[in-house]
Amino acid sequence: MSFTNKETHGAVTYNGIPQTRGNRDHCLQTESGRLLSVFQLAGPASPQAHHPLQKRVTQQLSTHWSSFKTLRQRYAGSRFEQQLQLHLSQKHKATEQDSTLRVEMNGLEEQADNANPRELWWKPLSWLGTLRPTTVNDTWDPALCQTFFSSTLGLEVPALSSLPRHHNQPTAKCGCKKFLLDLHGDHVSTCTAHSGATKAHDWMTSILGPLFRTAGHQVRTQFGVSSSDPARQKRGDVEIVSYLQDADGSRNLVFDLRITHDRYGKSDQPHHNGQLTHPNDLDAPLRMAAKS
Ligand SMILES: [Zn+2]
Repeated sequence: MSFTNKETHGAVTYNGIPQTRGNRDHCLQTESGRLLSVFQLAGPASPQAHHPLQKRVTQQLSTHWSSFKTLRQRYAGSRFEQQLQLHLSQKHKATEQDSTLRVEMNGLEEQADNANPRELWWKPLSWLGTLRPTTVNDTWDPALCQTFFSSTLGLEVPALSSLPRHHNQPTAKCGCKKFLLDLHGDHVSTCTAHSGATKAHDWMTSILGPLFRTAGHQVRTQFGVSSSDPARQKRGDVEIVSYLQDADGSRNLVFDLRITHDRYGKSDQPHHNGQLTHPNDLDAPLRMAAKS
């Protein structure tokens, strides 16, 4: 529970009543006592009383305690809530018939008749808990760290919010000279004339090539990649040679990396800027980028 910060200012309240440590502890004990009785009523019939798991208590408090309810109502529909929704974990069937990797994926399925289809979890932020910088080049400088975390959470980006403002909007124009910068970085994330998107794309390509090589594959990148449509000079970014093997022989797998953004950032109708492009279908920008 997050009393600590407020406590340092001596202004902890509960249901509008200023709290001393004594009566605050009493309140918590009362809440906990109620939770325990609710749990005992709702839980498996057991002759022995036992405390619910911390996870269950947290879930119960955040769902039902009035302070948390008020907080949730205040953030409903806000950028914070949208960002949270955009980064939730998702579960998908591993083998899809229209997938490029269906042969490979099908090979990994359990073959028993009654086996359940495999499912894969997509956890957008889980990499934060598993990756460690292995070289000095991989470390994030403080500005990058600030920008990543504030934009992921839905806060103003410090590098942009420190710019001079007029009517609470930055007065600086983007390098494209057409649009003003916004505090959350939506314009710079979508501007085709002047953004870091090309740099980020090339960086990804430069990382993925060596990564697949460490797994023993022969990899081509950039201009080495076979063109999928010679007439239009269209080519992917990374090609893994002889990746797919099936009855027809071996085939190469080509990745075309795309970067997309979930919000409007350069609309000619400025009131759209910063809004989600597909509020009722959050994965739509990804799907569309993958198909284009
Ligand atoms: Zn621009």
